[in-house]
Amino acid sequence: MKIAMLNPPHRYGQDTTQWITVPPQGYGGIQWVVATLIDGLLAAGCEILLVGAPGSSVRPGLTVSDATTIDATRAALSAFGPDVVHDHTNGQLLPAEPDWPAVRTHHLNGVPKHRGNGVYLSHAQRRAAGSTDAPIIRLPVNPDRYTYREKKDGFLLFLGRVSVHKGARDAAAFAQAAGLPLKLAGPAWEPDYLHGILTDYPDTVEYIGEVGGSHRTGLLAAARALLVLSQPFGGPFGGEWIEPGATVVAEAAVSGTPAIATDNGCLGEIAPHVGIALPVEQTPTGEEAAKILAGLPAPEHLRAAAIEHWGHHVIAAKYLEVYRRAAEGGTWT
Ligand code: UDP
Repeated sequence: MKIAMLNPPHRYGQDTTQWITVPPQGYGGIQWVVATLIDGLLAAGCEILLVGAPGSSVRPGLTVSDATTIDATRAALSAFGPDVVHDHTNGQLLPAEPDWPAVRTHHLNGVPKHRGNGVYLSHAQRRAAGSTDAPIIRLPVNPDRYTYREKKDGFLLFLGRVSVHKGARDAAAFAQAAGLPLKLAGPAWEPDYLHGILTDYPDTVEYIGEVGGSHRTGLLAAARALLVLSQPFGGPFGGEWIEPGATVVAEAAVSGTPAIATDNGCLGEIAPHVGIALPVEQTPTGEEAAKILAGLPAPEHLRAAAIEHWGHHVIAAKYLEVYRRAAEGGTWT
């Protein structure tokens, strides 16, 4: 099957000569999803054109387009002739009525810009978008891209945007209650928020900035647990935040690291497989934190569970079913 994969084109930080690639140089949830799905689809024998991420590495079966605008994308798609277009850009690179069968994965909160042939990441996200019938396909992880480690170091990890809705401050409070250091990794686009955390938890939190490559996989493998204490407020879309898919949970699990999450959005659906989902807006006491840590699943269980639920071959097979449905003229909302 010939698939055109549309990735949202974003510049790499302040650098106006480079794009965030697939997979990304550092932070990049959607870019990791696209890279991992491509891994699974290439293994299944598909031919892929990647659009919206110039500079990404090519591989046998994978071509990378330079297109980053809707017009250039249309031209690239015409030259490629896809059986199906898979949009991850919320319509940025694909009009409402494209010339090819299309599938649109919604990566954000709320109602997508174009609702036709949507795929959602969780029941919570689909509900918030007002859809009842569209397929739900979880975010994929490729275990070969991660390091698995049974023996853990004595720190907790936060890996994501250092933002209110991602619960970075809540992670600091949990770590302090547990009496463990917290490594806080990720871009801090709200410097006052980061400053407040570092001021209030100076003995608990070490901010290590945005991480990529083996630094990132090493942290995921070494941490005692990953903290994903996402909160339903402080988000970029009018404040309310329903965690849509949370790639980082599966990334930690294949590394043998459990997730201590909240039950916000998708997390209540996925975290219990590989950790725990706590109520939002609650900081445990020291005794409660110790009990939570003691009750987490073992590394070998975590890796197996992640591969079973979110492995790239499993998720690629689910997408292939949806692609076939679209390619045969199927429509849904
Ligand atoms: N990430 C990274 N380096 C960082 C912070 C995050 O590579 O310093 C990655 C992380 O591993 C994950 C993605 O960025 O793949 C964030 O995706 P997630 O779905 O967890 O959050 P969101 O896309 O909502 O910000």
